[in-house]
Amino acid sequence: MKRIVLLRLGHRPERDKRITTHVGLTARLLGAEGMLLASDDRGIVQSLEDVVGRWGGHFYIKNNVNFKQEIRNWKEEGGKVCHLSMYGVNLPDVTDELKKCDKLMIVVGAEKVPPEIYQLADWNVAVGSQPHSEVAAVAITMDRIAEGEPLEKEFPGSELTIVPAERGKHVIENIRD
Ligand code: SAM
Repeated sequence: MKRIVLLRLGHRPERDKRITTHVGLTARLLGAEGMLLASDDRGIVQSLEDVVGRWGGHFYIKNNVNFKQEIRNWKEEGGKVCHLSMYGVNLPDVTDELKKCDKLMIVVGAEKVPPEIYQLADWNVAVGSQPHSEVAAVAITMDRIAEGEPLEKEFPGSELTIVPAERGKHVIENIRD
């Protein structure tokens, strides 16, 4: 897998701030290059950019995108689109195909998603055929795709680095030029 981008549909600024932030953080941790937000919420961009500033890496956030245009552009550049939905095919049945993609857009909703997304997607994929959380759906999908690889990629340029410890907190403050 070379490139993964996350597309977040249906974000409602008045009620989805926390969960959309967590979708972005989870995608970042597991190797996505960025998140496209198909709603206007500068606050989400700010809070994710704050995390990237402190914890490193190059994760980008694009606010208020036109999702159809983004999907069209992605596909024109040879990318594939995986929409996560409890109505889709089972993740284990398509994991091998997803792993083969060089460019994969993972799409998650918040409220009811626009029906055309089911047609635009190359795969509609269920992480179990029960309703649950977009954060869990992203985490499990990306983890299955990355099977065998380290959980975390590198996050260069961070202000802070955690040193894994059996107990307590060990954090290094990095000196930057
Ligand atoms: N009520 C909404 C609907 O009917 O479309 C779904 C809300 S759900 C909390 C938000 C998002 O989480 C969904 O759009 C989907 O991307 C993801 N999701 C929830 N359960 C899922 C599942 N079992 N498999 C895959 N994705 C799931």
